[in-house]
Amino acid sequence: MTGLEAATDLVRLSAADLASKLASGEVSSVEATRAHLDRIQAVDGDIHAFLHISERALDVAAEIDSRRTNGDQLGPLAGVPLAIKDVLVTTDMPSTSGSRILEGYMSPFDATVVARARAAGLVPLGKTNMDEFAMGSSTEHSAYGPTHNPWDLDRIPGGSGGGSAAAVAAFEAPLALGSDTGGSIRQPAHVTGTVGLKPTYGGVSRYGAIALASSLDQVGPVTRTVLDAGLLHDVIGGHDPFDSTSLLDQWPSFAEAARDGARGDVLRGLRVGVISELPDEGFQPGVSASFREALAKMEAHGAEIVEISAPHFEYGVAAYYLILPAEASSNLAKFDSVRFGMRVTPHAAATVEEVMAATRDAGFGDEVKRRIILGTYALSAGYYDAYYGSAQKVRTLIQRDFDNAFQNVDVLATPSAPTTAFKLGEKIDDPMQMYLNDVTTIPANLAGVPGISIPSGLASEDGLPVGIQFLAPAREDARLYRVGAALEALLVDEWGGPLLERAPLLPAARATTLRQAQGPMEGKA
Ligand code: GLN
Repeated sequence: MTGLEAATDLVRLSAADLASKLASGEVSSVEATRAHLDRIQAVDGDIHAFLHISERALDVAAEIDSRRTNGDQLGPLAGVPLAIKDVLVTTDMPSTSGSRILEGYMSPFDATVVARARAAGLVPLGKTNMDEFAMGSSTEHSAYGPTHNPWDLDRIPGGSGGGSAAAVAAFEAPLALGSDTGGSIRQPAHVTGTVGLKPTYGGVSRYGAIALASSLDQVGPVTRTVLDAGLLHDVIGGHDPFDSTSLLDQWPSFAEAARDGARGDVLRGLRVGVISELPDEGFQPGVSASFREALAKMEAHGAEIVEISAPHFEYGVAAYYLILPAEASSNLAKFDSVRFGMRVTPHAAATVEEVMAATRDAGFGDEVKRRIILGTYALSAGYYDAYYGSAQKVRTLIQRDFDNAFQNVDVLATPSAPTTAFKLGEKIDDPMQMYLNDVTTIPANLAGVPGISIPSGLASEDGLPVGIQFLAPAREDARLYRVGAALEALLVDEWGGPLLERAPLLPAARATTLRQAQGPMEGKA
């Protein structure tokens, strides 16, 4: 085997397999990290998953290697590279949240999830691209240019966390961190053939995740397998005193749950709810077909498919696009030209208000401005009850729908999004169409329940990946790992290997070379 082939093999390993090679000493973290940096160098000029590459990755990897040689007790993912969504603040790399207003911003502290990843010996590779302040479903709202879907470079990788999903799908990183306020982990997973899980609200710390809508935001894993998601969730999850909404629960091992699911008989007798008010129309035929086939597969292995009524599910989008802008308009008020990032002084005698206005005008993109205006309007005295108040009532009705549904079923299943990856540019000028792409992911955020998206197959009409979403009651994240891993095992068996092995980007990219990058990329954040 040539050196190049060996490196290609390293990037194709799951995090779990790479971790066992690291533990046995067969591979060093420096080798694994270098293989991923080389892969980034080869393909990220096309993909643009990363906004910034860590200058320290190889040093961190070397440190883990020497700790291992010294016989230190290391965690299960020690030495495995990790990509980090740019919404999470880091002390050694800029954190921009995809916005011009935070260009070059250095945080004085690490987000809790980043600190936990570092403490567990994971090796941060860099920061991934995203829609500005996590507003969007395509990464086209990034101030630094869109990310491209590894399955088809002319298509979107989903959003807002398209960078994390594309990095994992293009084998630039085995693991990534994402954030999900209305689907930004799950919808990118759906369109890139990867796995993404939004934890129960309060299950993973939000400390150091640049807030979009605080009552909806959750950080979670973006990976190629369900087991890898469980391994990463085990590292980042659990109570954090720095997050006032963090749950005090003792969580079970999600990696164990995934292992259980893959070998056990969890589908036998499992009650899977499908929502009768979510009809096939509005869904791309290939998405519906893949969803039905996955359900049939589960049924053939003993699951019971039950139609349930969740009449308010479909109003989630309407409620969300009032609640989210309302919370975002308040959270983004801190970008005032004084405390963080950019400052534009329009003329020498400018007042504070003029500096603030000029800074926000130059620093925020159109979608962010749109939502701040919508949010402040919805919160204004005369309209508060009509808009924000009504949306909160709908939110309660959706929560009740979930409570009722989970009296009768163990999990709910939906397609993870209504369409496969759409073309770059297709929906950018039509915010409503962009918002409607979130119809199946949003309700979980409104209700605070966990959701997972795993690949269910390829849509027959375009050959692009489709995801199936499972939702469970709050605190039952482990159930999603069990069910997800069980279905994944059946499907991978049927396909004769992971779906991503069929992505046309493999084994070689359309390699235009990346700008000379080892340190911070030129022209990138
Ligand atoms: N697409 C949704 C939005 O634009 C989801 C965003 C998210 O989860 N961060 O708000």
